Amino acid sequence: MQIRFALVACSLCCAMAAPVSAPPKLRLDGSVQPSRYAVDLTITPGRDTFRGSVDIDVDVRVTSPVIWLNASALQIHDASFRAASGDALAAHVTPGGNDFAGLSFDRPVSGKGVLHIAYEGKISRTSSAGLFQQKEGDQWYVYTQFEPTDARRAFPCFDEPNFKVPWQLTLHVPKDDVAVANTPAVSEMDEPNGMKTVKFKESKPLPSYLVALAVGNFDIVDAGKVGKTPIRVIVPHGKAEGAKYATESIPQLLKLLESYFGIPYPYEKLDSIAMPFANFAMENAGLITYEESLLAVKPADDTFNRQRGFAVTAAHEMAHQWFGDLVTTAWWNDIWLNEAFASWMERKIVEQWKPEWHEGVAAVNARLGATREDTLVSARKIRQPIESNNDIANSFDGITYSKGSAVIQMFETWIGTEKFRKGVQLYLKQHAWGSATASDFEAAISSAAGRNIAPAFDSFLDQSGVPEVSVTLDCTSKPKLELAQKRVLPIGSHGSPQQLWRIPVCVAYESNGTVHHQCDVLADPRSEMVLTAAKSCPAWLLPNDGESGYYQVEYKNGLLDKTLADKGRHLTVAERVGVLGNVQTLENTGEISPRVALALVQDFANDPNYQVISLAASIAGILRGNAVPDELRPKGAQFIRQVFGKRAAELGWIAKPGESEDTRLLRQRLVSFVANAGEEKELIDQARKLTERWLQDRSGIPLEILGNVLRTAAQFGDRDLFDRFHQAGVKERDRRIRQQLLGALGSFRNPEIARAALELTLSDEFDMRESFFALMFGPLSYPPTRPLPFEFIKQNLDKLLARLPREVGSDYAANFPFVAGGFCDATHRDEVDAFFKDRIKDYTGGPRNLAQVLEGMDLCIAQRKVLGPELVAFLQQY
Ligand SMILES: [Zn+2]
Repeated sequence: MQIRFALVACSLCCAMAAPVSAPPKLRLDGSVQPSRYAVDLTITPGRDTFRGSVDIDVDVRVTSPVIWLNASALQIHDASFRAASGDALAAHVTPGGNDFAGLSFDRPVSGKGVLHIAYEGKISRTSSAGLFQQKEGDQWYVYTQFEPTDARRAFPCFDEPNFKVPWQLTLHVPKDDVAVANTPAVSEMDEPNGMKTVKFKESKPLPSYLVALAVGNFDIVDAGKVGKTPIRVIVPHGKAEGAKYATESIPQLLKLLESYFGIPYPYEKLDSIAMPFANFAMENAGLITYEESLLAVKPADDTFNRQRGFAVTAAHEMAHQWFGDLVTTAWWNDIWLNEAFASWMERKIVEQWKPEWHEGVAAVNARLGATREDTLVSARKIRQPIESNNDIANSFDGITYSKGSAVIQMFETWIGTEKFRKGVQLYLKQHAWGSATASDFEAAISSAAGRNIAPAFDSFLDQSGVPEVSVTLDCTSKPKLELAQKRVLPIGSHGSPQQLWRIPVCVAYESNGTVHHQCDVLADPRSEMVLTAAKSCPAWLLPNDGESGYYQVEYKNGLLDKTLADKGRHLTVAERVGVLGNVQTLENTGEISPRVALALVQDFANDPNYQVISLAASIAGILRGNAVPDELRPKGAQFIRQVFGKRAAELGWIAKPGESEDTRLLRQRLVSFVANAGEEKELIDQARKLTERWLQDRSGIPLEILGNVLRTAAQFGDRDLFDRFHQAGVKERDRRIRQQLLGALGSFRNPEIARAALELTLSDEFDMRESFFALMFGPLSYPPTRPLPFEFIKQNLDKLLARLPREVGSDYAANFPFVAGGFCDATHRDEVDAFFKDRIKDYTGGPRNLAQVLEGMDLCIAQRKVLGPELVAFLQQY
């Protein structure tokens, strides 16, 4: 905060002396176009500053005495413009607030030339933005993270995605360190001062946000080649053994991606590099960054969850090498062109590679997750206009990733996978090495599909909300469906239901022993779909074929019974999950009674598939939610025990030899659920005993279930257990285990202990990036501790703000409103509003988060009024 105010003050005073020109508000005006960068940086891991110089080939298209570019927290020592004629003009610097610097000249400049800027910047130890460093063992390692707008912390530049040009990097680093960047090194020369110069090959055109480098005592593991592409895994010193799974899986995933796109991997090398800790991975061209615990784990310490998680993330980041890197979004409003596609592609490729992992079900779950966010009136659009840094920060949300990928999947299903793939390939070829917009994409898909998909696609891109299609099956004559559309609105919503989409509605049904599929576009408020292949009334009918359409179904006149006939045995796992998810939404909109939903829970609690059981458990979770009064909560727990307890007891906490991964995944979900929400004594006791033994000698709990067991022990544990978790966490060197201990520290139900856990965010024992979410959000899952994080933030606001990372892409303070998101009463709602109202504008991305949290509380209050009596009646009779 102090730094920010200092900069603003400075920009006011200096602007008066400099030639009159106000800094841009959000975007550069395009009057100066870069065409190439040469960046020279001197970086020593462990030092908090670096020196740099940059030469930018530019074309000044509008004659001006000042050139604005992006720079943040950089101290510029020297700047000049050398015109093509050879004339050189020195510049003085006009500060431009947090994001800009102006280079002012004594006379106007124009035409082509080279901007030269020498400067100094910071290498952060507390954030993961710009250039930052992290310690592994006793050594520091330097990395970069520039998306969305932090390249400007590393060099003055035109920091917008549509400025896509070649970059040539030269690094001066300690002689014994390894330096890597987007491209291969072309030369390495010792300097006299214990340093060396590493010069990298000029890159293909890249936006500033995809430039990357790393410096440190890395070990490099060679993973061979795919075609001409050398593949390497780069890890902190001594961690090479952990790269095994990555070296095996990356080449296979890369081959599948090349085959889908029909375009070879676009860059000269593919490096994957481990950062000691990070809550992100990043698709830098040719140098993808991952958290170490995701990329590189010793085989002896590995789990199947980690391997699956890595493969899915790697497929995502590698898909970006085409979607995002080769073809880049022109501006942040179309970031879905990067993120929705990579999310859709990660599942498609992993499904091809490992069908037994059921990534198709993950796609349905992603759709259901997006639906919850998208039913809010304050939800973003996929293609939300960008008016401020807030909008840039908010654009990396569930709407962009999950709604975006669900909408893509819907259109792929509608026009057919092969045609869609041809359209994707056309789009990539047409815009290779450049940038593109939504219209460019729609044009390519329309051309491959042989019809204009844009009006339908735009109806999902440019408006928020989930369409609800109500479906009535009419078999009085030729079987047909009566369809109607409106916006899904949860109980208590102030939104308008009258909203129109052009929805590709695809249905499946069985008639005379054969399954038929049929699609129609629903463009009007009401319409009919004659079931062309039905000779008689269908035996069953699924109104969202494959559950791959981005719409919610309202099942009219008993249609739900027909959809779920014979417990949905005729449906795929993804379809069963999708239908149960729809039921859960209908419960929130008041269109299905909780009794109906809870009856389905009983029907599906013993489904053969673990993902269906997980969804049934999620529906049952309403019995432990805000709408149930405290005195009936034990009854809710009893229901959960009765429905799921037997299965959970059979599973127990510890896997038996030879069990399938599906069974082990079910255990992770169900045993915790029955222990915590069902308060099953036997499982709680087992968790306590297992924890005691594990704390003594670290044995008896496999890593795949460690976090679940420790959290259950914590929920029902005392202060002594808290203290022991605390000591163990501080001593723990393995970050994966420390993360589980932090999760446990945030899980105590005793309010006094939960307060002690929150206090840990103010000590230096844990890095905030590791501890913030576990400690702040853990207490939200249980009513007595739910108010504590908000109280804690109110009391310690300044201390927290001073400790948290605050950059545009990762302003942790923007998450503060979510900490208050568990409230369900008007008094707290108003308190939250009053506290954040004037403050939230200082937290980048915060205003929309606050609006969504307040809306969520309003809905919860309304829902409690409507559903509460029904749940009370249900539980009293139970
Ligand atoms: Zn991504």
